[in-house]
Amino acid sequence: MKAFAMLGLNRVGWIEKDRPACGPLDAIVRPLAVSPCTSDVHTVYEGAIGDRHDMILGHEAVGEVVEVGSLVKDFKVGDKVIVSAITPDWGDINSQRGFPMHSTGMLAGWKFSNFKDGVFAEFFHVNEADANLALLPEGMDPGVATMVCDMMPTGFHAVELADVQFGDDVAVVGIGPVGLMATAGAALRGAANIFCVGTRQKCKDVAKEYGATDFINYKNGPIDQQILELTGGKGVDKVLICGGDNNTFAQAITMLKPGGIIGSVNYLGSGDTISIPRVEWGCGMSHKQIRCGLMPGGRLRSEKLAAMITAGRVDPSLMLTHKYQGFDHMEEALLMMRSKTPDLIKPVVYID
Ligand code: NDP
Ligand code: ZN
Repeated sequence: MKAFAMLGLNRVGWIEKDRPACGPLDAIVRPLAVSPCTSDVHTVYEGAIGDRHDMILGHEAVGEVVEVGSLVKDFKVGDKVIVSAITPDWGDINSQRGFPMHSTGMLAGWKFSNFKDGVFAEFFHVNEADANLALLPEGMDPGVATMVCDMMPTGFHAVELADVQFGDDVAVVGIGPVGLMATAGAALRGAANIFCVGTRQKCKDVAKEYGATDFINYKNGPIDQQILELTGGKGVDKVLICGGDNNTFAQAITMLKPGGIIGSVNYLGSGDTISIPRVEWGCGMSHKQIRCGLMPGGRLRSEKLAAMITAGRVDPSLMLTHKYQGFDHMEEALLMMRSKTPDLIKPVVYID
């Protein structure tokens, strides 16, 4: 089969690989729509998971089931499915502890384009199909549904980690697709004011649609000081970190009220340690909490998020700024995700 792969650091291209084999609990899926992710960019161009050779890229796909294992109960050949970016081993002890994303090891629930080949191929393999696939709701555009694979569940996970409550003032640091979904999630959870940090106009326009009330430009000075100024020195109840760098944690601690919570889903790609400002952290006694995580993945989460789209609670289609038809555009779409032009939020590639 044909597949779009990381050939080595900074190198991508088309390769030939054997079609994956289907185990008794598994499924083989043919993609109908895929979307490149900032994580693919980290993988290829920043060596986030080390040097990999001929590893098929991608973890955001909606597709059609072409084969199921003998023990699969709920899916059959021909079903159109949303495939979660995180596909845990649900029987693993870490899943039973409530952390499926860490099943079989830290971050090991993230298998596509990490522990195994990804989804940018004519066919890809899904472990534990009954637990990791979700039926594509009737009439839902497969491209829109690719936002259920990673962007919605990750942005919403920041909201869950920070436990956003009615009336909270919330800062969202970073309004790429993950931060935009965090903004929408915070609004759905009843946040009062939502302060969004980002510069690209297209992202700001969509953030406004999703519930942003104020914008902060990180290029205009420290964001903690800007937010403290905007809130009359009080700060915010919650900070959702969906972008920025290692220094963002220090700024988040400074802008939090005592007892506030940071929910971070950001990938930290460099440095050995993160600094927390001692005094702003109440000399360790401020009850300001830092919670960080990879999203959980799995079928139930995908089904629930897709149901929210069907019910009109959230419209991720606003984020699909670049639509391509055909696998031939895979590299172009990935490079768009890398260059992040001012008009880009998320590219999607439809496959015939
Ligand atoms: P984007 O690159 O599209 O967005 C990043 C945002 O951060 C932009 O709004 C950007 O602003 C802003 N930003 C950049 N530098 C700073 C800074 N110094 N201070 C404050 N804000 C800044 O990323 P995505 O939305 O695609 O992904 C966000 C993160 O989530 C990535 O690190 C990604 O790897 C991670 N991720 C995590 C997952 C998980 O499960 N935990 C899953 C998927 C992704 P500007 O408008 O100027 O561009
Ligand atoms: Zn992704």
